[in-house]
Amino acid sequence: MFETPILFTNAALLDGAAEERRPGSNVLVEGGVIREVSEQEIRREGARVIDLGGRTLMPGLIDCHVHVIATIADLAQNALLPDALVAFRSAEIMRGMLRRGFTTIRDLGGATHALVQAIEEGLIEAPRLVICGKALSQTGGHGDLRGRVEERDFGYQARRLGALGRVADGVDACRAAARDEIRRGATFIKIMANGGVASPTDPIAFLGYSRDEITAMVEEATNAQTYVAGHLYTDEAIRRAVECGVHSIEHANLIQPETARLMRERGAIACPTLVTFDKLKSEGASLGLPAASVAKIDDVRLAGLESLGILREAGVTMAYGTDLLGPMHRHQSEEFVIRGAVLPAIEVIRSATSHAAKLLRMEGRIGSVAPGAFADLVVVDGDPLADLSFLTRQGAHMPAIMKDGRFVKDELN
Ligand code: ZN
Ligand code: ZN
Repeated sequence: MFETPILFTNAALLDGAAEERRPGSNVLVEGGVIREVSEQEIRREGARVIDLGGRTLMPGLIDCHVHVIATIADLAQNALLPDALVAFRSAEIMRGMLRRGFTTIRDLGGATHALVQAIEEGLIEAPRLVICGKALSQTGGHGDLRGRVEERDFGYQARRLGALGRVADGVDACRAAARDEIRRGATFIKIMANGGVASPTDPIAFLGYSRDEITAMVEEATNAQTYVAGHLYTDEAIRRAVECGVHSIEHANLIQPETARLMRERGAIACPTLVTFDKLKSEGASLGLPAASVAKIDDVRLAGLESLGILREAGVTMAYGTDLLGPMHRHQSEEFVIRGAVLPAIEVIRSATSHAAKLLRMEGRIGSVAPGAFADLVVVDGDPLADLSFLTRQGAHMPAIMKDGRFVKDELN
């Protein structure tokens, strides 16, 4: 298929590889990938030349913790919606993400391979999607959406597109569920190893799963050449999970320094999601978040910013995550600004580029502007290193967004 090569000239390159932007950079895109990056002139016959006039050119952003099927804030109700409605709404949610400059997203529970395939076939306009299938939870854990008076068998969840998780108890059932998700197209495994906010019967302090169950699921993931991500808040739960081999530590709000050092030793990566707690606090109740969940928000929200400092001090790699639900997805980019209050801007940018690529095990293909990488690119009118809010406001400061070498948004000339 003929595709016009695109040559960006006079770009200020910002991909986290250096501490500063690299002005005067030229980038050649051809066949969906980045062919050449140089501060010298690049010549390519027949290319469309786009002079960026010193604007910032970044790799497409990566959000490592989303739930694209969370179409409303009440997750128990979401799980009962018809699959087709959830699918169409989730396409709209993903389109919004792409328009904010996120060209890759990692879904932490709910999205299926059918969505991945629909994106690959070009049926919907969405970021590249990395999935774990359903998150695995014990009975009464963060993925069990039945309240105290609900007697429905839990089996329905595994089959509903709108359910974030499924229930598996006992080592054998945990192994079977992990294998089943991998069979269905998961490329990592998510487990609910701690109590949660948006679920009815599990206080934050509860540990989810026994050590034997966690170790078994880690073995299954390892056998499938991948890793386990754990939903985790408390220091005790994080320490136990890391000791059992969990690699991707979601949220981590209540982590303490010693456990952060253990994470660093084991090479575990943290994926904080602070924006969701701010928005659950300010908007959750009005959007139908059940009262039992509203009451739990501050148990984790208030310690959030402190956890960033603890993780940084210990040298833990941090990836960008947001974990928003339903109408709150529009706040996806505000995590940049929240983190920027505590961390250097370049570190925040790395969390959504190079560090995210490392977590997704896609280094060299996403999160960098280098030859061989997918041509996932964002042009920013302004310097995000000076002000991270250039990455917010629904892409208002992004005149161009490209995925796979094709413009999703092109307002440059
Ligand atoms: Zn979680
Ligand atoms: Zn989540």
